Amino acid sequence: MFSNPLEPLARSFTLRLSLAYAAIFTLSTLVLFGLLYLLLAATLQSKDREIIEARLREGAAVYESGGLPALQLLVKRSRETDQNNSFFIRLTGTQGSVLLFTAPADWVHFDPAALNPGGDLSRLVWLRIPRDEQRDFTVAAMRLGDGSVLQVGCSTNNRQTLLQPFRRDFLIVMTPTLLLGVLGGAFFAHRATTPVREMVATARAILDTGNFAARVPVSVRRTELEDLARQFNRVLDKNQALITRMREALDNVAHDLRTPLTRLRGTAEVVVQTTPDPVAREALADCVEESERVLTMLTALMDITEAEAGVMRLKLEPTAIAALLKNVVELYEIVAEEKQIAVTTAFQEPCEALVDATRMRQALANLLDNALKYTPAGGRVWLACAVESGRVTVRVRDNGMGIPADEQPRIWERLYRGDKSRSQRGLGLGLSLVKAIVEAHRGEVSVESRPGEGAEFVVRLVGAEHAAQDVTKGI
Ligand code: ADP
Repeated sequence: MFSNPLEPLARSFTLRLSLAYAAIFTLSTLVLFGLLYLLLAATLQSKDREIIEARLREGAAVYESGGLPALQLLVKRSRETDQNNSFFIRLTGTQGSVLLFTAPADWVHFDPAALNPGGDLSRLVWLRIPRDEQRDFTVAAMRLGDGSVLQVGCSTNNRQTLLQPFRRDFLIVMTPTLLLGVLGGAFFAHRATTPVREMVATARAILDTGNFAARVPVSVRRTELEDLARQFNRVLDKNQALITRMREALDNVAHDLRTPLTRLRGTAEVVVQTTPDPVAREALADCVEESERVLTMLTALMDITEAEAGVMRLKLEPTAIAALLKNVVELYEIVAEEKQIAVTTAFQEPCEALVDATRMRQALANLLDNALKYTPAGGRVWLACAVESGRVTVRVRDNGMGIPADEQPRIWERLYRGDKSRSQRGLGLGLSLVKAIVEAHRGEVSVESRPGEGAEFVVRLVGAEHAAQDVTKGI
């Protein structure tokens, strides 16, 4: 199945937030422009109408007081003053005969019936006749006292003419505004969601690497999300304190149990050798074996604690890791043979590192022990060591059952055992000890594995030369 590269983008909360912000921003600007346009159009229209209405009322007043001759005189005079002759005036008698008519050059013929002379003209009636693309002809009509109808009109700008500069300006203003809206929205959304991203990164760091010390960086701002991050950190603090207390309790128990258990084993051993009763001897032998197992566990627990706390006594000496590994392989030869597992080695000689040979042997032996333990009969195990970028790198690889991705960060925890590993012998302390010993030597250990295909453990140690330099530098 192909994964869509844009999928994380489509799922991005920040992107959605900025798009919503830009959409609201654009919509509000559109509404604002629309309202402005309507307001402007209405204002201009009412200005045109005011002028026409003033002319009509003036004509009507003149007609009412001085009759047709007075109106004719008014029209004549206004034509003299109005150079453009922009007004249309028509007086229609009660019988429909035209008593007075004057029209500008741009006048458009229209059906006088459209003004409904027979209808209710006691109030002012308006008519708009489209002239061309830019202008309309606006006419007002009113019935006068003697029943004749006076019409006054002139050409006015139509809505299209008003809208055109608006449309152009709208695009000019809208493009940078929209850009600003999207960029501004993205910036603020990104900033606002920073604590969320940091919380996700912290949670991931804890779950993937088991680093319980990771915390969300919080600033002094007191936004809701910053507060959430702060509370999240408090929960982590509490969890870490709890884990530390549990570890301490485990260490104390291990420490306190070691002495009575050693005494118990000693006593049982003595009695095993002296008792004549075969049943009691067998039972006591079991006791010795079991107490041995528990003692191993307690010793491992104490070793891990010591190594982690940096108080493990290490006798550091330049040691050939290749020779150490050969030694370990010899130790496990019989186990490998019994399980018919082929162990292949590739050691670059001598691979010298400054280590405590006993402890390092113990750590590397644990890795080989696991490789043989978790690889089915007939499988293969590879061991290699080489100097890579000044560091001694040991690889222990097998083609066994492998480790599921969700278990990988947990295998280093004390007493953790994989789900499928419970059928095998073990205490869940081997890898914790390996990690503690390697890190006490300022080295690193990591794992790469695909379930069903095997696992590869890599130990990186400071090479003897580098370690010597570090010592002279006082590190
Ligand atoms: P134990 O082997 O006693 O269970 P460890 O601390 O040595 O404890 O290992 C922890 C877990 O890591 C094991 O239970 C197992 O699930 C897993 N593991 C370690 N090494 C391997 C390996 N080579 N292949 C598969 N799983 C492994």
